[in-house]
Amino acid sequence: MSTQVNCHCVRCNHKLCTSANSWMPVSNVHSTYEDSKKFIEYQIETLWNIREGLPDSQLEGCFVNPVRCRICRATIGVRCVDAPEGKAQFRYVTYFKYL
Ligand SMILES: [Zn+2]
Repeated sequence: MSTQVNCHCVRCNHKLCTSANSWMPVSNVHSTYEDSKKFIEYQIETLWNIREGLPDSQLEGCFVNPVRCRICRATIGVRCVDAPEGKAQFRYVTYFKYL
């Protein structure tokens, strides 16, 4: 069984990254996540538009930035930039939408 999955942009199908095959409910979508230290080489850019994580999600109480495809600029997920006590494991992790 594979432990890695290829993530492609939902709009332009460009390969964005290879991510751990780990899925978690973040809000109304399931997301996979990747340690941001590993994806510098990938076709993803972070927008500096900090907002709060969605209520009733794992990211509630955290602050997130949207991330987008560097090729077509579709929004593809969020990066957690700050997290409260007890959620430090989410900090600096990027969550990709799974559609
Ligand atoms: Zn794209």
